[in-house]
Amino acid sequence: KNFTDEQISEDILKALKKLRYFQPTPVQQEVIPVMLSGKDATVEAQTGSGKTASYAIPLCEQVVWEENKPQALVLAPTRELALQIKEDIINIGRYKRIKATAVFGKASFKKQQLELKQKSHIVVGTPGRILDHLQKGTLHLEKLRTLILDEADEMLNMGFIDQMEEIMDFVPESRQTVLFSATLPEEIERMAQFYLNPDNKRI
Ligand code: AMP
Repeated sequence: KNFTDEQISEDILKALKKLRYFQPTPVQQEVIPVMLSGKDATVEAQTGSGKTASYAIPLCEQVVWEENKPQALVLAPTRELALQIKEDIINIGRYKRIKATAVFGKASFKKQQLELKQKSHIVVGTPGRILDHLQKGTLHLEKLRTLILDEADEMLNMGFIDQMEEIMDFVPESRQTVLFSATLPEEIERMAQFYLNPDNKRI
C-alpha cells in the first residue's frame, strides 16, 4: 500500500515525501481512509506506531485554508506531546500553509491568546488550558469539524476527565471524533460511548 492510493492531495503527498514517509504504517493504513470518510473511530495505538500522522494527514487534507476559525482540535495529556503534535501538523501541512497553534498550562496565557488571534486552522492543547481559553472567550470552536482525543488513557490518568466534559459544551454536536489510546480499559470504553457516534469504527 502507498500514500498515493488514498485520496490525498499533491501538497500533502509532497510533504510526506520530504519527511521521508514513503509508506503508510499499519495504523495509518486503517485510520486515514476512515477519517477521510468522515466516520468516528476508536483506535488502539501505541507511541511509535505512526499514530500522530494517522490523524494529522487527514486533518491537513480536510483543512479549508480560507476559513478563519479553528476547524480541528487535538486534546493531548502533556505539553511535550502537544508541541510534538503541532510540529508534525506543520510539517505535513507545510505546502498547504496550514496554521497550527499549541496551548498548554504553565506558559503565558497572554502569548497564547495573541497566537490564537491569528489564523489557526488546527489547535492542539492540554484540556485544562484549552478550557481556560474557551471560558475566557479567547478560543472559539463553533466551526470545529473534527475532535481528536490523543492518549485518552493518559488524559484519564492525569485527571482531565472533568475538563474534557466541560470542553464538550463548547464544541458542535455534529462533528467527527476520533479517540486514540494505548489501552482500552472500561473507563475508556465509557469515554468513547460519551464522545463518539455509536457506529464508530474500531481499529
Ligand atoms: P508516533 O507513533 O506518532 O509517535 O510516530 C513515531 C515516529 O514515526 C515519528 O518519528 C514519525 O515521524 C515517524 N513516522 C510516522 N509515520 C511514518 C511513516 N509513514 N514512515 C516513516 N516514519 C513515520
